[in-house]
Amino acid sequence: MSSASPRYLFITGGVVSSLGKGLSAAALGALLQAHGYRVRLRKLDPYLNVDAGTMSPYQHGEVYVTDDGAETDLDLGHYERFTGVEARQSDNVTSGRVYERVLARERRGDYLGGTVQVIPHVTDTIKEFIGADTEDEDFVLVEIGGTVGDIEGLPFLEAIRQFGNEVGRSRVLYLHLTLVPYLEAVGEQKTKPTQHSVKELRGIGIQPDLLLCRCDRPIPESERAKLALFCNVDPGSVVPAIDADTVYEVPAIYRREGLDTKVLDYFGLPGKPAPDLDRWHRVVEAIRLPAGEVNIAMVGKYTGLQDAYKSLIEALVHSGVAHQVGVRVQWLDAELLEQDDPAGEAIATLQQAHGVLVPGGFGDRGITGKMRAIEFARTRKVPYLGICLGLQLAVVEVARTLAGIREAGSTEFGACADPIVGLMTEWLHAGTVETRSPGDNLGGTMRLGGYDCVIDPGTRASEIYGLDRVRERHRHRYEVNPAYEDRLREAGLRFSGKSPDGALFEIAELSGHPWFFGVQFHPELRSRPFAPHPLFTSFIEAAIRQERLI
Ligand code: GLN
Repeated sequence: MSSASPRYLFITGGVVSSLGKGLSAAALGALLQAHGYRVRLRKLDPYLNVDAGTMSPYQHGEVYVTDDGAETDLDLGHYERFTGVEARQSDNVTSGRVYERVLARERRGDYLGGTVQVIPHVTDTIKEFIGADTEDEDFVLVEIGGTVGDIEGLPFLEAIRQFGNEVGRSRVLYLHLTLVPYLEAVGEQKTKPTQHSVKELRGIGIQPDLLLCRCDRPIPESERAKLALFCNVDPGSVVPAIDADTVYEVPAIYRREGLDTKVLDYFGLPGKPAPDLDRWHRVVEAIRLPAGEVNIAMVGKYTGLQDAYKSLIEALVHSGVAHQVGVRVQWLDAELLEQDDPAGEAIATLQQAHGVLVPGGFGDRGITGKMRAIEFARTRKVPYLGICLGLQLAVVEVARTLAGIREAGSTEFGACADPIVGLMTEWLHAGTVETRSPGDNLGGTMRLGGYDCVIDPGTRASEIYGLDRVRERHRHRYEVNPAYEDRLREAGLRFSGKSPDGALFEIAELSGHPWFFGVQFHPELRSRPFAPHPLFTSFIEAAIRQERLI
């Protein structure tokens, strides 16, 4: 079912942040797909950064990289995982990018001497982004970052208000995600925060069409009626969104509450009487009732910040589902391994691990600890997966120990006699050479996005993938120095995946070890609940074998 021009769903958030607007948008998108519609999801982020690339994942969550090389908000990861629709650069727009475009036009003289203002110039530009780069989608779901009431969000809210008038209200739906908290002391659910949030939204000129209410228990009829009355919607438009055990349960929860039907009815579109959600149910069941469990030690700079490693955690969940096991991630602060006599607890975490994972990272903090964890996994024959920085450190570790290159290091951490890993100064991108030098800007200057990787036949990597060419997403500045390839190979480390021109090393595997891999790319960005990434499923399979050994 496709239509000449799409319908737009704008998703705003009220009361508090972290209500999960991104997940709501993703789950609703998946439900609409189950009815046979084509969807597109995008996010408007009110912050001033031009993109998420320069933002700390420890403050803002992971930087999600799209195939076309955009560094985006982590919500785009939810969108891709839930809908399988590949996100693009045009699907994440920040205030910074909007202003960048407006100011470039001003400098060019495009405004013909006019005064450049938030309304109409900034709002027009936001609307341009909302409507740009669509194909034959039936629905474009647009999430507005932040919470209603934030100063930064105002131009975006004004823009979506105008958009509704221009496109016509029959083609635009405003959905407001809010919180209906339960107050223990009085034993009641409270509607006032939602009333205030909707009042704020109406003050801007937006009357929400649907209220999606996060709650930890069902909302009684009386409270729904109250919400409807005060928020100027009919009671059927107040939809409870009860807390879920796993995010993959959300589409089914929305279905149960009839959110999909309400959306389709609003637009006067037909829906399937029983959209097929079986695969979602199967994933939820596998997560709820695993047949066993494996421990994966995740060795990072800061740990416990789940959002900083969102896609990675989800990729582990997906491969756990594939094997019907639960994957328990045990966070291990790399610095704890750096002391002369590492804390017993840190060592115990490694000893109980059925697999060790060193994820991507930047800077030199915790490097020695990460290398110790790698040495532990290598010498004790515990499955090891190194991602990006985790590959680079594994190569350095193997170089120092097995290849006897004592001074091996990465120039990211300072000059060294044997730069096994060094700054990448040029590489091929879509047939042209990209060059970088050490003093370049930090934003958007890495090797970013999807690149092909050619896999050597007869290697374990080719067995795992079952393919001789794959496409994986990247986000890095440093690379393995090919000058050391022969010495590393003699030591047992083979580069089984390379860029098509053979210049950049993408996959390393160690012989004589049950499962030891490093990858320069981020496989977690391509893992989906219904299509777990082969590297992760193979890693978890090795961890299951390890569990039986311990
Ligand atoms: N800091 C390393 C680099 O820039 C690794 C990056 C990463 O792990 N994403 O190459």
